Amino acid sequence: MNTPPIIKLPRRSLLVLAGPAGCGKSTFAARRFAPTMVVSSDQCRALVCDDENNQRVNRDAFDLFYYIINKRMYQHRFTVADSTALQPEARRRLLELAHRHGYLTCLLIFNVPAETCRARNEQRHRRVEEQVHAYHAGLLQQTLQEAPTEGWHRLYVLSPQQIDAAVIEIEP
Ligand code: ATP
Ligand code: MG
Repeated sequence: MNTPPIIKLPRRSLLVLAGPAGCGKSTFAARRFAPTMVVSSDQCRALVCDDENNQRVNRDAFDLFYYIINKRMYQHRFTVADSTALQPEARRRLLELAHRHGYLTCLLIFNVPAETCRARNEQRHRRVEEQVHAYHAGLLQQTLQEAPTEGWHRLYVLSPQQIDAAVIEIEP
């Protein structure tokens, strides 16, 4: 896939962003969607403890993350799940939630090299620790292998250039 993808999605879709820390998921979402459409695990962390980096509150933060996504789907709202989604279990939960609501599931994998993520991480104010990049690079490779068999209605693997150019259209 070399041309910029135009991704058309029905309103009742769950768009799941997946990719390593610093690959540009939140930036991608902020450039394309209203803030209320994007449910972010980092924001959920901040909501429960005022610190979006605090990994000790993961359990409560993710309870909230899934809770909000579930509530939005009751309202038939287009929803973007902004988390790394690099763990099979995390993707499975999102798939299950969406299936329960009869939603279309679309997984966007941000195929961004670790060096790029590392450089971008250095430039932002909220930073992840250095060892996270190698760990996430490994999980990304695993995700690229496993995601095609997980049951997503749509699956896109995007290079950095394709991420910048991708257009997402929500059907009325
Ligand atoms: P995390 O998983 O840690 O939340 P993320 O995938 O949401 O990371 P962002 O916070 O969106 O990543 O981006 C990381 C940094 O990279 C930010 O400083 C952002 O400005 C920069 N960045 C994001 N996307 C791009 C891009 N397409 N080109 C250049 N820089 C970018
Ligand atoms: Mg983010």
